[in-house]
Amino acid sequence: MLINGYPNFSEIRCEDATLALAASEMSALCIRRFGREDKNWSIRFQIDRELPSFEVTFKERVLYISGPTSVEILYGVYDFAEKILGFFFFEPGNDLLNGDGPVELPEGIVIPARKVPFKVRGFIQEYPFDENSPLLADWMAKNKLNFLNVWMKYYDKLDSNGREAFRIRGIEIQSGHHNFDYWIPAAKYHKEHPEFFAEIEGVRIKPEKDENALLLGKQLCTTNKGLRKEIVKNMVEYIERNPELKSVGLTPNDGFGWCQCEECSKFYDKSKHGELYSLSTHVYIADRIYHDMVRDVAQQLGEKRPDLDLYFCAYINYCRPSEGFKLTPNLTVMMAPYWRCINHRIDEECPINSHYADDIKAWCDCKEGGKVVIYEYYMGVNFYLSLPQIFHRTIFQECAWYESMGVDGIATQFHPPHWSVYGINFIAMAKALRGEKEEEAVPVMMKALFGSDAAEGEAFYEHMKSITASAGPCHVTYPYALFSRTALAPYAEAVKLADALLKKAPQSRFRKELRIWAEYLYRYKSLFDAFHAGCAGIPEIDHLLNWVHSHRDTHVFVHDRFDPYFEAWRTAIRKGKEYLHFNLDWEDDYIRQHRKTLNGK
Ligand SMILES: [Zn+2]
Ligand SMILES: [Zn+2]
Repeated sequence: MLINGYPNFSEIRCEDATLALAASEMSALCIRRFGREDKNWSIRFQIDRELPSFEVTFKERVLYISGPTSVEILYGVYDFAEKILGFFFFEPGNDLLNGDGPVELPEGIVIPARKVPFKVRGFIQEYPFDENSPLLADWMAKNKLNFLNVWMKYYDKLDSNGREAFRIRGIEIQSGHHNFDYWIPAAKYHKEHPEFFAEIEGVRIKPEKDENALLLGKQLCTTNKGLRKEIVKNMVEYIERNPELKSVGLTPNDGFGWCQCEECSKFYDKSKHGELYSLSTHVYIADRIYHDMVRDVAQQLGEKRPDLDLYFCAYINYCRPSEGFKLTPNLTVMMAPYWRCINHRIDEECPINSHYADDIKAWCDCKEGGKVVIYEYYMGVNFYLSLPQIFHRTIFQECAWYESMGVDGIATQFHPPHWSVYGINFIAMAKALRGEKEEEAVPVMMKALFGSDAAEGEAFYEHMKSITASAGPCHVTYPYALFSRTALAPYAEAVKLADALLKKAPQSRFRKELRIWAEYLYRYKSLFDAFHAGCAGIPEIDHLLNWVHSHRDTHVFVHDRFDPYFEAWRTAIRKGKEYLHFNLDWEDDYIRQHRKTLNGK
């Protein structure tokens, strides 16, 4: 096999590391597919700036992979591997291959170029980089994802090899996420600048004993001019230390807790609280105060570093643009439809989603050169604990609407340890964001995952979707909303379906894990019912938790989320408190309201 005229990719004298990677990947994929023998055709990569994406053509025994950038050529290699060679890049480190024998390439266009509807396609990583991060970078490139949002404290620990692994695959890392406390660490600033921190009920907050960072629900005094200047100074220094980054973020610490000092209070309308859909009826709307700071910081930063983008987020009590706010060229908003309904599409009539759709539309309407990226949760949320969210069709349908609105991209939270449950959503997102259509992509995904049992595989997911649908007209992704409104029988049926799938291919690790997933749902629902019937308590909770932890070798559970969650359940029992979710009073109040609203009342 010849690539660019060379029999061996390692001979290519290539300045461009991405093209060199594309060549080595092409070579490795062909060897895995065909063995070592000559394929009787050679391969050429060519940059063609006029193309909207990669294009694969075959002419006189030469396979041309062309694209406007070297990253697009790399994507072309992977797409050729999927569409022609029979690979399926289902999960990090596990490339499936369903195909053997010779491949007949038609003369002319093999894979046409296509318009790519979304510029930003990616993940939000809420865990530290680890030894599997190179596999994640590899998987992302294979699925044409180009964006990774991470906490700054995690980026600090990523070494230059790790950073390079993402860079050469065209993945931009956005080191940001909740970061008020990174820019202004309480331990460093509190003594000299107590005025930088939020005033709550007349008192400036300060770090608790042994607490170096401000925790959930603690913010800064964002109107303070000295504070804003200090943040800009820290941003510029940060970028000088990390010159490979193209953006910085300015995102409040998680939760509420905005400053109530005299100056900050001018930015709230005390008669105006947030709304139920965004879980903020108990607090003032904080859009004006936050956006005033974003605008000022963006301007100050732009004077010093006009090349940088500034990311900020739209979430809970600041999820809409404040009046007059414009998304100017260097601004990107990540809009999080937190606790959205998964029984309705984002663009369907729904007491929750319709508000989020209005917010998204408002963000798109205020674009003046900036970008709108949707911050999604295609795995429920962190405490949905591997419960069903069957979205591999929904995502395609929602992307059609996002595209029509002018949304620039989507990134979703994810965790590798629950890949067997939600990986199918991540794949669907990746394909939808590149403009593939549901009717072409979903059958390919099912065939790759289930082979000749694709119809049964699809039926299993349909059944899982019918469980969440049976909860009521709306469903929000926390366990109580699912288990308090569904019957046990469909979970037993899910076990049967998973069993039947497994019997047809007993060696399939994926099917084994679907079976474990179904059994987990049945066990959890049974425990929930027994607990509410007064027949189960702490020993039974421990029993389920131990059962979950006995499956550490699977990709079904994010284990470290289960311990605090189940501990909250035990705590509620010990304290004689009503068990709803995580024992946060403000959150429990919304769950009580959801009892009516999710059921259409
Ligand atoms: Zn203040
Ligand atoms: Zn709904």
